[in-house]
Amino acid sequence: MMEYPLTLKNLLERNRLLFSKKEVFSRLLARDFRYTYGDYQKRVRRLANVLKELGVAPGDRVGTLAWNHHRHLELYFAIPCSGAVMHTLNLRLFPEQLSYVINHAEDKVIFADPDLLPLLERIAPDLKTVRHFVVMADEGEQLPETRLSPVHSYEELLSRAPEEYDFPDLDEWSPAAMCYTTATTGNPKGVVYTHRGLFLHSLACAAADMMGIREEDVVMPVVPMFHANAWGSPFVAVWMGSKLVLPGRRLDPGSLAGLIEQERVTITLGVPTIWLGLLQLLEGGAKYDLSSLCFLLVGGSAAPEGMIRSFREKYGLYVQHAYGMTETTPLATLTRIKSYLKDAPADRFYRVAAKQGVIAPGLEMKVVDEAGREVPWDGKTMGELCLRGPWIAKEYYREPERSAEAIRDGWLHTGDIVTVDEEGYIFIMDRSKDLVKSGGEWISSVDLENTIMAHPAVAEATVIGIPHEKWQERPLACVVLKEAYKGKVSKEDILDFLRDKVVRWWIPDDVVFLEAIPKTSVGKFNKKQLRQMYAEGKLATG
Ligand code: ADP
Repeated sequence: MMEYPLTLKNLLERNRLLFSKKEVFSRLLARDFRYTYGDYQKRVRRLANVLKELGVAPGDRVGTLAWNHHRHLELYFAIPCSGAVMHTLNLRLFPEQLSYVINHAEDKVIFADPDLLPLLERIAPDLKTVRHFVVMADEGEQLPETRLSPVHSYEELLSRAPEEYDFPDLDEWSPAAMCYTTATTGNPKGVVYTHRGLFLHSLACAAADMMGIREEDVVMPVVPMFHANAWGSPFVAVWMGSKLVLPGRRLDPGSLAGLIEQERVTITLGVPTIWLGLLQLLEGGAKYDLSSLCFLLVGGSAAPEGMIRSFREKYGLYVQHAYGMTETTPLATLTRIKSYLKDAPADRFYRVAAKQGVIAPGLEMKVVDEAGREVPWDGKTMGELCLRGPWIAKEYYREPERSAEAIRDGWLHTGDIVTVDEEGYIFIMDRSKDLVKSGGEWISSVDLENTIMAHPAVAEATVIGIPHEKWQERPLACVVLKEAYKGKVSKEDILDFLRDKVVRWWIPDDVVFLEAIPKTSVGKFNKKQLRQMYAEGKLATG
């Protein structure tokens, strides 16, 4: 066979040759915008020329600080296909973290949305390597007053740039993109994606038993393009020629439901909190035609079984569960219900649907106990999930020590504690640091919170381990009630609900009711902050 480099150029070229009539929809701050992949391709080429003009050389890192929109999609291909490295910046990081990642990656240019400039201005004095800021304001729109310098207008640069650009033939091992993951302790850790890794990950995502993204699909990534590359969906959609719907910054359930209805979205991707919001909207009686949807892909944290069940039984919508992490590009497992399980009794069906799925073709997994021995596939024995394969990180960027901790003997040790059942479905019990270690036994906070979320009055719930003299740690439930139930449901009601669903010693010692559960920069329950609030006496326990 030929030695053929697996690079993003193939994705871009296939799109150019075959799909110039297909559309991209983009929700901007002030208006909705749409154009064709034909127009998209021309602008990607202009943008590649702009990068050259700004002095971006092969291998240089280019930051993006932006919502999901068509300009961000242009950067997604212009940067890596011209040989540079796209560094997507998480706009919800604390300022110190943001300046840390920009300096650590040594970003040379930053492309930013106009509404995010205040964030950059705050950290600008600390930025050591950035030579240019490019503001992605709309055509004809005045750039906001800013202290950043030198600052350019994206549209102005593009309008001056030539439309011809020959993308180079790159080595498949060359870096294409990078993303930092929020570490619980210490600074964020960077993962660099090679062209080859992204190519193979995109192939796997497109496979029918994985995301199954086809030309006829309309794909709406709600997961931010800065969160593990929107789980790869922009790359796949461009390659397959699927219409993309990019929802911008308005991510409230009503806006999203409106977009699904209006653009006839077939596949949409997001974290559970997004879909819990949509479910509440529908349960509140809001009427939208969501019949175009094949499935809602959910990942990033565990999708509660109750949510999956309600969507299907009440609204005929299928929630497809997937698991991954920044280090795994991110797709590692996905839950397709095997053909012979499709007609299983409802309880069994939803139990499988709520698991994180089976290993993606192309990857290998093993689950090991503390001594490194593989645990049996019995659906009960817990162990740490280890992964290897062509889109699994072999190191953190410029972090030899932390790399050696996580990647050992050719395996990425994910830090996720799972069980595997006889069918090979993995079930994430917890991140090892979030497990509640009670009297030498482990309690899965994820399992417990999902059981609590099945209570009809509960909007959101999370469980943390709190220190205990005798048992070392005990679970504490933090619960947000749905509006209609506020003040009407007691701690005892919640605990009673659990009594026939979990073993006795898993029942939380206490329940606190909160107005909202604090979330991390990528929309997950922020257990670190809750533990801190508890330590500072800010959770009304007792
Ligand atoms: P961060 O570390 O900033 O949260 P990541 O997206 O890389 O960013 O987080 C990956 C982690 O998220 C995984 O290690 C796992 O603990 C959790 N996770 C991802 N998907 C799921 C899922 N479907 N169910 C449960 N946990 C998940």
